[in-house]
Amino acid sequence: MSAQRADVQQIKDRIDIVAVISRYVTLTKAGSNYKGRCPFHKDDTPSFSVSPEKGLWHCFGCGAGGDVIGFLMKIENISFIEAAKRLATEAGLSFAAHNGDDSRDELYEINIAVSRWFAENLTDSAAGRRGREYLVGRGYPENTWERFSLGYAPPGWDHIKKRFSTKYGIKRLIDLGLLIRKDDGTTYDRFRDRVIFPILDISGRPIAFGGRSFDGQPKYLNSPKTALFDKGNHLYGLSWARESMQKEKSAVLVEGYTDVISLHLAGITNAVGSMGTSLTQGQAHLLSRFVKEVVISYDRDTAGRMASLRGMQILRNHGLSVRVVRLPEGDDPDSLVRREGSERMQQLIDAAEPFHVFYIESLKERHNMASIAGKESALEEARLFFRGIRSLPLRQEIATSLAELLDLPFDGLLQELSRGGSKRKYESITEREGEERHWDPQQVILSLLLRGEVSWDRVSALISPEDFAVQYRAIVEKISQTRGQVDASSMTTFLDEESAREVSYLTLSEPLWSDVEKALQDALERFVELPEIEKKLHDLRGKIEDAERSGDRRHLDELQRAYSTLVAQRLSRRRRDGKKQTAGQR
Ligand SMILES: [Zn+2]
Repeated sequence: MSAQRADVQQIKDRIDIVAVISRYVTLTKAGSNYKGRCPFHKDDTPSFSVSPEKGLWHCFGCGAGGDVIGFLMKIENISFIEAAKRLATEAGLSFAAHNGDDSRDELYEINIAVSRWFAENLTDSAAGRRGREYLVGRGYPENTWERFSLGYAPPGWDHIKKRFSTKYGIKRLIDLGLLIRKDDGTTYDRFRDRVIFPILDISGRPIAFGGRSFDGQPKYLNSPKTALFDKGNHLYGLSWARESMQKEKSAVLVEGYTDVISLHLAGITNAVGSMGTSLTQGQAHLLSRFVKEVVISYDRDTAGRMASLRGMQILRNHGLSVRVVRLPEGDDPDSLVRREGSERMQQLIDAAEPFHVFYIESLKERHNMASIAGKESALEEARLFFRGIRSLPLRQEIATSLAELLDLPFDGLLQELSRGGSKRKYESITEREGEERHWDPQQVILSLLLRGEVSWDRVSALISPEDFAVQYRAIVEKISQTRGQVDASSMTTFLDEESAREVSYLTLSEPLWSDVEKALQDALERFVELPEIEKKLHDLRGKIEDAERSGDRRHLDELQRAYSTLVAQRLSRRRRDGKKQTAGQR
């Protein structure tokens, strides 16, 4: 890995990012950056920005971004290796041979061999008994294992090394994420005592592995990003679902491996897995190649979360129509199909609600509509959502439902929803555009770190990488590994697409503050305080439910007052944040 890293960095150092991007986009100089119209979305205004100094580009309209290799990959629709090779040739460098296509074939060969060995362990070995019993217990009898390439990794630390390193070399096994190297240079098997779900590419070749433990943590473990695998550009089960997806022009999108398998076994063969709920641009693009409609079937809690909703918005902006299945509380597709059968599941899929209907419903679940503060925060959220809707009739319909939900006059509401809204705004995917950017404190801290305004040493005294939300963790880890100056562009090379976009966004955005110290202090305060408020709110919701059940009116009033106070506190924290950040802008 380190040899490859040096090569890639060399290429990036020699290549003029402005010259490369200029071949596709007309760029004009604006300060120390260049601006142009984004080639990845319909861009009326120049939202696309390139920083030669930072070696990054970012579109503030659609949110795409990254380094020069990422740009070439996206615009030419080619792989990382291919993009790096082209740029290397241009820079008069030869990209190290072990990154060439020959070695790519060998990487597939290794994964195929390892996948076969996992399968043998499942069917033949004594140790595999645990795996066999688990799968049969889940309703996957032996005659289904081959269809889904299922396997088992035996307990122990060095089976993979012993078996495969002589033939393929330790380095390749590490590169494929099969072995993990410790600080002292020794290695051990990543997958131990786990049922293995190989992740196949569209032609059915294993590119990565997912492993489920019986009782250990984490419950699911995946291969890391490798030369063959980038989670954000793949869907679990695509090779099995492809035909049926193309025929039906529709895909059922689920979260986990067992959801996909159970649906396929139930005859719902257009199911694919997003391997996590924050859907990426890459996955949306992949889906849009095969289908016109995506039916989201996450469990109920997950579907209502912001990360999922944002993913659904990304799908819509790729021109896909989105519907959401209403699963019973506590069910996922796997558990529902096993308990109630495929017919019931099919009924639910047929009855899936259009995205906007689901979204408005979900507002009710996330905000307390009985209080003013709850309505205010729902309205605030809805405004951001509304901007992403382009269709006029749909806007009308949503505004009508919202007026009803919030008990507000339609005209006033429509005005409020469109506040400060130029046409351009409607095209934004997330809330990340325009003068009302809202950054969570984690983003403020990351941005300060990426711009080199604050050192990791200072921050790490108060927070550790694990404190950050999952979507930022890969970035924080890279920052924490950097000694001295953080180099955002070189960091990007080994981040997945989503994280690279976040890095380019946080590095190239107009700074949201004028006073670095104040921004840092405020963000740290909110990083610690807001989660505390959330936790109190969560506890209170439980108590309110209890009081409702027991019919204790007086206690209930008291609790609801406390709840409203907290919601107001939360809102004022967020607003304060908004104002502060807006103040520093043009
Ligand atoms: Zn764009």
